[in-house]
Amino acid sequence: MFGRAQKTGSKESIQLARHAGERLHTFHGGLRLRHNKKISCETPLQRAALPQRLYVPLLQHSGQEAEPTVEQGQKVLKGEQIGCYRHLGSGSVHAPTSGTVSAIIRHPISHPSGEEGRCIVIRPDGLDQWKELEPMEDWRSARPEALRECIRQSGIVGLGGAVFPTAYKVQEASRRGIHTLVLNGSECEPYISCDEMLMREQPDSIVLGAQILQRAVGAERTIIAIEDQMGAVHHALSEAVRRSGALDIEIVKVTTIYPEGGEKQLIQVLTGLEVPSGGRPSDLGLLCQNVATATAVARAVTEGKPLIERIVTVSGSGVRKPGNLLAAIGTPISDLVDRCGGYEPDAARLVLGGPMMGYPLATDANPVTKAANCVLVLSEADIRPPQAEMPCIRCGECARVCPAMLLPQQLNRYIRADSWEESRQAGLRDCIECGCCDFVCPSHIPLVEWFRFGKSKLRELDSEKLKSATAKERFEAREARLERDKLERRHRRAEKKKALHDDLKKKEKIAEAVERARKRREETE
Ligand code: SF4
Ligand code: SF4
Repeated sequence: MFGRAQKTGSKESIQLARHAGERLHTFHGGLRLRHNKKISCETPLQRAALPQRLYVPLLQHSGQEAEPTVEQGQKVLKGEQIGCYRHLGSGSVHAPTSGTVSAIIRHPISHPSGEEGRCIVIRPDGLDQWKELEPMEDWRSARPEALRECIRQSGIVGLGGAVFPTAYKVQEASRRGIHTLVLNGSECEPYISCDEMLMREQPDSIVLGAQILQRAVGAERTIIAIEDQMGAVHHALSEAVRRSGALDIEIVKVTTIYPEGGEKQLIQVLTGLEVPSGGRPSDLGLLCQNVATATAVARAVTEGKPLIERIVTVSGSGVRKPGNLLAAIGTPISDLVDRCGGYEPDAARLVLGGPMMGYPLATDANPVTKAANCVLVLSEADIRPPQAEMPCIRCGECARVCPAMLLPQQLNRYIRADSWEESRQAGLRDCIECGCCDFVCPSHIPLVEWFRFGKSKLRELDSEKLKSATAKERFEAREARLERDKLERRHRRAEKKKALHDDLKKKEKIAEAVERARKRREETE
């Protein structure tokens, strides 16, 4: 039903306005986009029913896929670990309900590459029976390391889209020293409203999660950043902070300019400080986490529940009743669309994520993953007809809107010319793939596609460089060892020779002494 396409939104469906800095600090560039969040916020949060089969991908986080810890035919309880992380920079996965592992297969997963991934297929038994839960007794007096371990064991990753393992991020940040925790509730992409819904409906769990994360990282205070148009959210969160009695949590409204929800941009808006190129917020003593991640942390620590579900916005003019659904990880996207009344007859494209940073899906059989914040169904009318790419006219529009202060036209030239060192020097790694340059380019150049390709190429080159450096190191170590062995052998030979020589001398001396004694005996006789 859904074909692949290069761009996910249209200039007609998203009105463009110029960035005009208003309050707090500002960041360079950005776009003011028309928001379409209201359509999915009109109904309260609903729970999606459990499907016939859950397809739980083993790779739902950055790093390597988890190692399966279950076998086909095995019975599992809700919350039981079914895939274990392979290294600290990856994540574990857990059973979203009780049932039987019916298979471990390759299946379409939601990834920009469109490739299939290994999934554990669970046939629910309808009992939805939890494993024995072991919440922490008193998190307020728990050691930060114990909190981080609990977060790690619960398979929590950044739910804002980056899916970086939270425990690892917190551990790295606390090593560097953090004074402020920033909870990001500013979803600047049009259509996506899952965080807004969460902040409205579960503000207490967000505040609790903030307090736990603050302790786990050793921060002195927390700032919860929300969009200035979220009046109801501000009220709900303020009440939750009051109820908690916390005096070190502040709620700050930020102007809704895309991509303000980006970690680096949000920090610049809140502090006026720029995260250095190639650096992290922790370089400035800050740690940024999504509000949904804070809720997952609160649940893991105080209830002992791992991350097995998330809120997904189902929206767009191609779906009958847009809304926000709390869905078990592994639920097929088709089930979510059915729960929202099904497709409109003119539904034309399925996108995972928002219209700016999302990517098209070829099928709605893909399961919900920890990264799936939005399922967008666009209709024929939303999609701009494919435009032929034209040469760059050097208008500079792309550089004007780039929030990372890059020169996209130049980056594009370097990548097309395979000039990888120049691309690196020009800051390709700092591109956050926000799509602003793509959006304004009058020549319809698919800049973000080139940047994604370029970044993957840099990763490949870095890994080759690392491999050859390791091989060189090994070779040099081997050569040094051989040389050492040679010298040792030579030394041993010389020692042996000397010992033989000394032995010979000794024998000669003994023989001479014996001879002398013999002669003396003969003379006395
Ligand atoms: S916006 Fe497009 S045409 Fe204009 S400078 Fe950038 S790449 Fe070239
Ligand atoms: S996609 Fe990259 S280069 Fe383009 S505007 Fe965003 S950060 Fe800048």
